[in-house]
Amino acid sequence: MRIGLIQITQETSSFNPTLTTLADFESFGIYEGLEILERLHSAGPVGGYLAGIQASGVEVETVPIIRGAARSGGRLSSESFEFFDNKVRDGLHLAGHLDGLVMLLHGAASAEGIDDVEGALLRTARDVVGPSLPLALMLDHHANVTQEMIDHSDVIVGFRTQPHDQFETAQALTEHAVQLFGGNIKPTTAWRKLRMLTHQEQYLTSGGPMKILFDRAREMERDPRVLTVSPFPMQCWLDADEGGWAIIVVTDDDPSLAENLADELAELAWSMRTEFQRTESLPVDQAVTAADQTNDGLVILSDTGDSVLGGSGGDSTVILEAILRLGIRGRALIPMIDPVSSRQLAQAGAGATVTLELGGRSAPFFSPLAVTGVVRAVSGGVVELSDHAETEIDMGKTVAFEVGPVTLLVTEYAGVAGIHPAVYRHVGVEPADFQMIVMKTASNFQYMAPFTSTMIRAATPGPTQSDITALPWQRIPRPCFPMESLTTWRG
Ligand SMILES: [Zn+2]
Repeated sequence: MRIGLIQITQETSSFNPTLTTLADFESFGIYEGLEILERLHSAGPVGGYLAGIQASGVEVETVPIIRGAARSGGRLSSESFEFFDNKVRDGLHLAGHLDGLVMLLHGAASAEGIDDVEGALLRTARDVVGPSLPLALMLDHHANVTQEMIDHSDVIVGFRTQPHDQFETAQALTEHAVQLFGGNIKPTTAWRKLRMLTHQEQYLTSGGPMKILFDRAREMERDPRVLTVSPFPMQCWLDADEGGWAIIVVTDDDPSLAENLADELAELAWSMRTEFQRTESLPVDQAVTAADQTNDGLVILSDTGDSVLGGSGGDSTVILEAILRLGIRGRALIPMIDPVSSRQLAQAGAGATVTLELGGRSAPFFSPLAVTGVVRAVSGGVVELSDHAETEIDMGKTVAFEVGPVTLLVTEYAGVAGIHPAVYRHVGVEPADFQMIVMKTASNFQYMAPFTSTMIRAATPGPTQSDITALPWQRIPRPCFPMESLTTWRG
């Protein structure tokens, strides 16, 4: 059996005006052909794909075509979209006979002038391989599922957990794919689109309404007639045509069961809509003070408005300003993605005292902050991560910069947005030695968990703020809950 393999992922925040460029993809590695398998065989979606092939017991020749993954951010530049679109087209042209195609995509990527990047890439793939080649599609569960994704694929599987289980989901998808490509199953999809968006503070699948919903999906999958069930609580900062939550149920040739289960899960999600809107974030000064008063290990301050993993630029100075103004008694660690400052500080060199305008450039929500500090360390920024989906990341020019009680990790590229201790240790900074760390995520605290005492969400403004009702929506279908109060999820 010959299977084509494509992985292209990025998650867009429409409220971040900074475009995602080819350089952003390159910092995570753009790979073609067999290099994809050589580089990524042990982790992430490609590792999960290979595990799925092995588990299937079927003799498979994989034809790897293109792999590009960027950190969440603004829309893709036209240049980067066209680069991948051409790679998909040309790669499939050269692939020879295929029995099936596996596409590992995100589902919430937009580009300049294109709301639905994945729909466009799937259309390009279909143009080459024709309408009948079976196609298995993996999506992040924050995907905005569109009609085009449904039309061009035969089986769709979304992530089961937040933080995400990329390896396991790709493995599950691939096991279905091999059955599909061998003609052993007949996937039948029912899907529902909901007039609903929900903010990040209830994203975690380990508790609250999201756990109830995802647990019910897993329960439905115990029925042997059901192949896969995926709730899609859409990335809540994607202002796209067709935007909104979705549910997908795939059965083995049982359309009415698929329809019934899709309705049931949509109703369940809708019935919890008020719980999904519950926030726990504190006003910034209150959050900083609470973090400073905690006496038991590292406190995480989640910078909700500047979540890099949700698509923000990672250069908000709002919490930094509050920490410096409030005069905390402990020490704080803050990651800052700021190419201009990282280059300036790197050039000044270790030991230099520098005054500069830091951060605040990526989005109109933010503004730069004038600070004076000392450069403690400078590095090239390439870090190996054995326990992360990307095993090697490039942060570009990376500087440990000390401003009063704050140590900043100022980087040129996003890298992993400072969520992993290894990126700090890389420049001789130990996160466990700090009172608090600002994290540019609302969910991915797992790598800091071993030495974290408390997580406090700060209600900061930005392209990923929790108050989604205050954002300038233009493209999502209206009315939509919670911007409008509705009595049904149906459009
Ligand atoms: Zn996601």
